[in-house]
Amino acid sequence: MTGKTHVGIGIISAVILSQYKMVKLTLGGLAICAIASLLPDIDHPKALLNRYILPAKNKTVKTTIYFTLGVFFLLLNFFYLNLKYVETLGIFFILTGFSSHRNGITHSLAGLLCFGLAFGFAAKAYGFKEYIIPFFLGYGLHIIADMFTNRGVPLLYPFKKRKYKMPITFTVGSFWGNLFEGLIILIGLVYLTFKLPEILLK
Ligand SMILES: [Zn+2]
Repeated sequence: MTGKTHVGIGIISAVILSQYKMVKLTLGGLAICAIASLLPDIDHPKALLNRYILPAKNKTVKTTIYFTLGVFFLLLNFFYLNLKYVETLGIFFILTGFSSHRNGITHSLAGLLCFGLAFGFAAKAYGFKEYIIPFFLGYGLHIIADMFTNRGVPLLYPFKKRKYKMPITFTVGSFWGNLFEGLIILIGLVYLTFKLPEILLK
């Protein structure tokens, strides 16, 4: 599924949940939800976020950068910070470096917990508690959305390698797949256009 579709799903859900007061709709919250909905795909060198993070889009560069980033966070934490979430992030980045697309930690419940808790601790520490739900929403929905594709996701990684998927799936890049993804992006854009004035005027 494309990054744009994942962002669309995240935004549509955040807007719907905000009607029931489950998410506070702010520009910051929507941005966090959008970034979190792209996060699981950083295991792919050509993913949307990696276009901004990686200098070259191949596997070796991806592995090297995420591994280095992970070690950097662990060392920083060991010598200076001593914060649980920095340590969690370090471990997460190292695992991301060695995960190939949709086969590892980022598309699993363990990944959702790892990244979600790290974000949660940081958000609490810096007074951004209202961003925790949008984060879990974006990340969690990415995993659920990928379960609707024929490749499925390793939900229980690292305990089980099996890929889980929904009873009805579509193939990414197929006619119906593209139509479906296009519709989600369209609905997301329409939603955003109508809701943006409301958010900005708050
Ligand atoms: Zn994905």
